[in-house]
Amino acid sequence: MILQSLIDLAAREGLVEDPSYQQAGVSFAIFLNRDGGFDQLMDLRQNEGKRQVPKKLSIPKRAGRTVNDQEDFLVDKSEYVLGAEPDGKRTPEKLTVRLDLFRSAVARAYEATSQPELNAVIGFLDSADERHRCVQQAEGFKYKSNDLFCFEVEHESVHDLPAVKQYWSEQPVGGADADVQQCILCGRDAAPVEKHTQIKLMGGSTSGVALISFNKPAFESYGWSGNENAPVCQKCADSYSTALRRSLDTSYPDPKRPERPLPRQSVVLSENLTAVYWTDGAHDELLENVGRINYFPESEASLLTAQLQSPWKGSLSGSTEGRFYCLFLQGGQGRATLRDWRTQDVRNVQENLRCWFEEIGVAGDRPRPLRFLLNSLAVKREGYKLPERFIRSLFLGAVFYQELPLVVLAAAVERNKSEKTVSAERAGLLQAYFIRKTKRRTYMGLDESSDATTAYRLGRLLAVMQAQQSRVNRNLNKNITDRFFTSMSTRPASVFPALMALGRTHTRSLKEKPGGYFERKIGEILDGVMPVPNTFRLAEQGEFALGYYHQRYSDMNYTKAKGAAEGSESSKEEGDDDAE
Ligand SMILES: [Zn+2]
Repeated sequence: MILQSLIDLAAREGLVEDPSYQQAGVSFAIFLNRDGGFDQLMDLRQNEGKRQVPKKLSIPKRAGRTVNDQEDFLVDKSEYVLGAEPDGKRTPEKLTVRLDLFRSAVARAYEATSQPELNAVIGFLDSADERHRCVQQAEGFKYKSNDLFCFEVEHESVHDLPAVKQYWSEQPVGGADADVQQCILCGRDAAPVEKHTQIKLMGGSTSGVALISFNKPAFESYGWSGNENAPVCQKCADSYSTALRRSLDTSYPDPKRPERPLPRQSVVLSENLTAVYWTDGAHDELLENVGRINYFPESEASLLTAQLQSPWKGSLSGSTEGRFYCLFLQGGQGRATLRDWRTQDVRNVQENLRCWFEEIGVAGDRPRPLRFLLNSLAVKREGYKLPERFIRSLFLGAVFYQELPLVVLAAAVERNKSEKTVSAERAGLLQAYFIRKTKRRTYMGLDESSDATTAYRLGRLLAVMQAQQSRVNRNLNKNITDRFFTSMSTRPASVFPALMALGRTHTRSLKEKPGGYFERKIGEILDGVMPVPNTFRLAEQGEFALGYYHQRYSDMNYTKAKGAAEGSESSKEEGDDDAE
């Protein structure tokens, strides 16, 4: 199915020519009537300066002549078409052999198609008189031995007749002796290709890699694994490899409008992993948005969200009908490996993208590109070095609305602990992880309800106490988060008393009245969470981090808004010692 859709893409965009035809310069057209009688010889050559140039036509692919006798189909030199030659270099016997070969090829086609125009050509070839009249006119035009002749019967070009084209494209490439097998993609009998076209891929050899080795049995039956067990004809192989190359290219010229490149349909996700995607129709904007999963400049963030918010209001050009396809290629030395492939309806993919960008943007903050999300999970921010499967799972999550795997949660928790903070990127990932895992939208932004889990609420607690500390003393080398984030998020009971004691000190320093803001807030959060658990499991550590981030983000926004309203320096008082 996926190969077939690539072949359809190649056909829709006009990426490949029929490999059984080729462009060649033809000098003369022999005009015949329906009975094979010679009408006249038409000179197709055009004057270019002092030269006479044959007319470029699409003709049946030529055999590639050797010294041996080898006819071409329907369009050939005079020694094959007329049994004559202007320079007197061939013996009559040789010319007879060549004429016979040419006639046999036409006769085989007539047998297969019963096309009357082919019968007219045979009648002409069988009549020495008719051919002789044609040769006389050719001599009048001073024809040369390598001039090509084609046939027209009652002004219909014989090699262009649909039935003839069909017949010829079904002939095995490489002649009748070739080992013919049924192509598993188009079903036609043809000589299978021996070598698949090479494709330039991130992580592959610079000269390109062949699509040969695939780890999914489904693909082996689709012909990716070689031609012995799954024959693919030349046309199908050309079509899908050209469609892939076109999708991987940043500026592949549009064959229909060469001045304008076709839009790119792939994204490089790591050192050697590339996602390639396409649809079966005109969905340029959707394809562009899929590319934006990986990266978009910050300036485009609001545009992107606005656009995705309103796909049903008609702001997206193109139809929502159709099918979306995606495959993952991993480049290695000498080969490309297909890691995975997926397909879904275009309308679902649009909705999936909207959800993705919404879920990874925390509490209405702008979403972050996948590249940054990956960096936030990696040591030294080298996200491109994360395992292929890991990166792929996030891209799949974005495009196909899949749950994010546990390793994403684990990596986010791990980085939070070692950096002693929760970044916007990791908070977004945790949000998406929990929303998808639990199907609860409550993870979308600050949850102040008593339904929130103990871990989430203790995360909030730490954030509130951090805000309180910032009021007391902003210039600490090691603040409350630095000291307590890791221990509170893993074994809270052991450090809870120390944390609360520090909080009481801060309350006294602030000289807040009993029941002041912080005391009240802390009381609310702790209502019903006692006793504090001894340990938090991985998922709870993730919830702790999310609670912490949501509370920090909300406090910061509150402070910013308050600062803006007062128009004073007070905006700097609290919270802008950002945890990021
Ligand atoms: Zn085929």
